[in-house]
Formats: sequence, structure tokens, C-alpha cells
Amino acid sequence: MTSKPIGVAVLGLGNVGSEVVRILTENAEDFEARIGAPLEIRGIAVRRIDGDRGVPAELLTDDPAELVGRDDVDIVVEVLGGIDIPRKLVLSALEKGKSVITANKALLAEYTGELADAAEKSRADLYFEAAVAGAIPVVRPLMQSLAGDRVNKVAGIVNGTTNFILSAMDETGADYAETLAEAGRLGYAEADPTADVEGYDAASKAAILASIAFHTRVTAGDVYREGISKITSDDLETAKSLDCTIKLLAICERIVTAKGKERISARVYPALVPLEHPLASVNGAFNAVVVEAEAAGRLMFYGQGAGGAPTASAVLGDLVMAARNKFYGGRGPLESKYAKLKVAPMGDILTRYYVSMQVADKPGVLATVAAEFSKRDVSISTVRQQGSGDGARLVVVTHLAADSALSETVASLEQLDVVVHVASVLRLEGTTV
Ligand code: NAP
Repeated sequence: MTSKPIGVAVLGLGNVGSEVVRILTENAEDFEARIGAPLEIRGIAVRRIDGDRGVPAELLTDDPAELVGRDDVDIVVEVLGGIDIPRKLVLSALEKGKSVITANKALLAEYTGELADAAEKSRADLYFEAAVAGAIPVVRPLMQSLAGDRVNKVAGIVNGTTNFILSAMDETGADYAETLAEAGRLGYAEADPTADVEGYDAASKAAILASIAFHTRVTAGDVYREGISKITSDDLETAKSLDCTIKLLAICERIVTAKGKERISARVYPALVPLEHPLASVNGAFNAVVVEAEAAGRLMFYGQGAGGAPTASAVLGDLVMAARNKFYGGRGPLESKYAKLKVAPMGDILTRYYVSMQVADKPGVLATVAAEFSKRDVSISTVRQQGSGDGARLVVVTHLAADSALSETVASLEQLDVVVHVASVLRLEGTTV
């Protein structure tokens, strides 16, 4: 005898939603066998219902709120995008006790607290594997597989657009604007690429990762953020000469402050990464996340961080979990926020800097520049001069120092007569010296 079907509402039929519907439809029997009951799509919400959308026309609706409220909908899959509209829809579903699967990192990075509270109250599931790094399982491993361990650091490449651009600049020597235009032509960058290239997308994902890894609510506003739009082909050239490449990293870590307080840091910026580091070889639109846990050691997750089918894979994994819970009873893990750790300001974080500056062709330049570093107790690891005469460039790489001391040093260098201008400042990650 067939069990009572579980009703699913799919909100959105774009890149992700259309793949969710296709895979659900094509593999319906497998889904039923894995869950114990068949899944039935009750409706699909879109903005425009005219024309052939490749799904049965009777399933389409332009009224997502009505669909979410239907009695025969047990689980809501939110793949719309945006924040305000999905927030209302997801809240309304959770308040009615319906489980929600969402791929929406921007929504979660602002409102996880509110949504998790609503889920807790009605004992519904809220799953969001697809919101971080697309197909790559990283949310569930952090939340469940590593629930018995202590995670100290999660660092990764979580934005495919910026990784595509930086990898292409590294490979071809082309400049940023040219490579961004090429990424747009190839479909790797959106018409308005701001959220990707200025690091907002990665910051949302960092907030989600830090919240889960450190059992603390972290929002996108807590994440220090710099994008890649100022990276030049010269920076990549210099990175090569230092046996490094440049990657936009999202870094979440536990730190202990100079006063012995436990804090967390969540930050996103382009950084020099040594070629031997596992993240250096993650190229093109691929994503990777490295997790360091006390007992497990270092784990690395790698794969496709975006795209319709890969993202649908993560959404559907969550859907099977939520549907099994509906069928057998029980629910997934609740939000874990007991640690309530404070987020440290960027200035307190120990980092290494790479500073490239155009300098005057005068004697004593090196000593004057070095004095600015030593005044703030920033120790220099290497100095190299490139070129001579008016085009002379000095490249300084420091040892670890407080980010505030490093940024004050750079500000003071800009005031020196011997420095024509500071061309570029990047942090160096993946080393601890
Ligand atoms: P998309 O291609 O733009 O599709 C959005 C869909 O939602 C469209 O079908 C659109 O309808 C519908 N929609 C939007 N606003 C609506 C509203 N107010 N009422 C009814 N329908 C509405 O977006 P996507 O790329 O699939 O992304 C969806 C979500 O997944 C986003 O949160 C995104 O951040 C997340 N995500 C995407 C990827 C990826 O690779 N694309 C990866 C990870 C996570 P119409 O078709 O009628 O316009």
C-alpha cells in the first residue's frame, strides 16, 4: 500500500528551481523509496506564469503566499532569491509548522535567528545546505558530523565568480576589468556583479559558517569585508614571484585576544596564498572549504559551488531529510547558539601584510620605510626592490602583527616623501610565521 504523499511547494523556477523540479520528477520512484512516502509537488511559484515553463501549467502560480498556506503543503522549498519576500514566506511556512529548505544565503545571513526561533517554536525543520558552497556538503558536516568535535577554523573559497576572475587573471595576465567582462560573457558574472566582486556574497556565507562552527549567532554585518575590484595584474605577477597566488577567502576562526579572551573572527578579503596551500590549486568557478577541528584535524571539501543542478543536489538532500522527518516523526538538529562568543574587530586579528609601493629614487629610502614598520612593532619578513629610477617599487612582506598596527603603518607610509604611492596592500594567509 502506498503511503500518504508528502506535499511540496517549490517557490521559484529559475536556475535552481527548474533543476529541483526536473530531478524530483525524473527520480520520483527513488525519492519515494528513500523516504517511505511519495513526494508530490503541489505548486510552483513564479513571477510570470505565461508561456511554456517546461512544467505542467496547472502547477504554476504567481501567488506564493497562497501556495505556502495550502493545507496539503508539508514542505516549502524556497529558491526565489531576494530578502524581504522570501523572509515573509519562510516565516509564514515555519509558523504553520511546515518544514523549509532554502538556498538563500542573503536571507539567512540577516535573519537566521528569527527563522530559527520560528522553526523551534513550531517544531519544524529549517535546512539550508545549498546556501553555502552550492553542491558541496559543508553545512551538514559542520552541524552534525563534527557535532562532537571543537571546530577552530573554517576557511574557504566560497564564491565562484571571484575565483573564476582571479584564476583567469593569474593564468592570462589580463587586468581586472577585462577579465570581469569575459566572466560576464561566459555566464560566470551577473550583469551587476557587485555582490560577488565586493565580497558581500562571501560575507553572507562566512556569517552562516561562523554561526554553525562556533555555536554563536553571526550576521553578515559582523563580517569584515573587502572585495577583489582593486586587484591588479601586477599584484598577481608579484604574488607569483613570492610563490603565491591570490584568492578571495572567507575565514572564520576562534581566537584568543591579547587579554586572554576567547573571541571569533569572521572576515572576507583577497589574500596571497602560498602555492603549496590546498586552497591555491582551487581554480575556475570551483569552491573549497577547509575545516580545522581539534580531534578530526584538517578536512577539505571541494566541488561545484554554484549552478542549477549542483545547487539542486544540496536542496534535494535537505528535502529528503525533511520528508523523512515528516514521515517517521522527529526533526533535524536545532540551531546551536549556546556559546554566544563575541566577534573580534578586524584590528585585533593577527595577519601578515604584503605592501607594494612606488618609491623615490633617493638614498635612504629603505631605512625610512623600515622605520615606519618598526615604530609599530611590525617585523619585516622580506623586502624586495623591483626596477630602478622613477619606476622603482619596493615590496615588503611582514611577519604576523595586529591588523590595526599594519593598517596604521600603511597609512603612515603614504605620508612619507620617499613613497610616491602605496600601490597595493594584501594580507598573506596560509602561513603562521
Ligand atoms: P533565478 O534564476 O533568478 O530564479 C528565481 C525564480 O524565482 C524565478 O523563477 C522567478 O520567477 C521566481 N521569483 C522571484 N521573485 C518572485 C516572487 N516575488 N514571486 C514569485 N516568484 C518569484 O535564481 P536562482 O539562480 O535559481 O537562485 C535562487 C536562490 O538560490 C537564490 O537565493 C540564490 O542565492 C540561491 N542560490 C543560487 C545558486 C545558483 O547557482 N544559481 C547557488 C546557490 C544558491 P520568474 O521565473 O517568473 O522570473
